[in-house]
Amino acid sequence: MKASPEAQLRLLELADLDTELGRLAHRRRALPENAELERLTARAAQVRDEMTAADTELSDLDREQARAERDVEQVRVRIDKDQQRLDAGKVSNARELESLQSEIASLRRRQGDLEEVVLDLMERRESAQGRRDAAAAGTEAVAAEETEVTARRDEAVAEIAEQESKAASTRATVAAGVPGDLLALYDKVRAQAGGVGAAMLRRGKCEGCNVSLSTVELNEIRAAAPDEVIRHDECRRILIRTAESGL
Ligand SMILES: [Zn+2]
Repeated sequence: MKASPEAQLRLLELADLDTELGRLAHRRRALPENAELERLTARAAQVRDEMTAADTELSDLDREQARAERDVEQVRVRIDKDQQRLDAGKVSNARELESLQSEIASLRRRQGDLEEVVLDLMERRESAQGRRDAAAAGTEAVAAEETEVTARRDEAVAEIAEQESKAASTRATVAAGVPGDLLALYDKVRAQAGGVGAAMLRRGKCEGCNVSLSTVELNEIRAAAPDEVIRHDECRRILIRTAESGL
């Protein structure tokens, strides 16, 4: 393929712009805010699980406490009834009296035990409520942090998009000055060579792959016409000759 040395030089401008565009795309992918948001999403799921566990525990404890309070009430009613019989003086038989008093004593012990159970349940409820409150506060903190990081991420993405749009517009202008067949070749090589399709030959070295050319290769290039489009055998990029090529 043939192309004027000026057209070939424009490929170096294109290569710089493509490097810049590649750098920007990489920056967008590697934004630290993305990793932060991932971490926050995981943390949000964790506090949500903690909250669900605390809610389940609270409703279990509420049920247990209601049951224990009902038991206490039943025992209390029985004690009252026994006590009333005793106070009314209706029981005169000594054995019956003794049995009634012993039943009241036993019911009082039972009432005490049940009240202990209620107290214990209340303590456990308080601790579960504390875990629930902590999880709720955690949820709020995570949401606030997510909002803040998302805003920072969006700002960075917008800044990258602006730079990309500038570089893309400059690239379009430069590309318009490159003959169609040369541009097509450049784009094909670019797709194969990982982002950049042309490189300068500087002091006998290809700047695309950083490999020095052999004397035979350099001699071939020296013998080639200025409008001959030259490719580097090693990396297949289009080699651009300049005053610094060392030819
Ligand atoms: Zn090369």
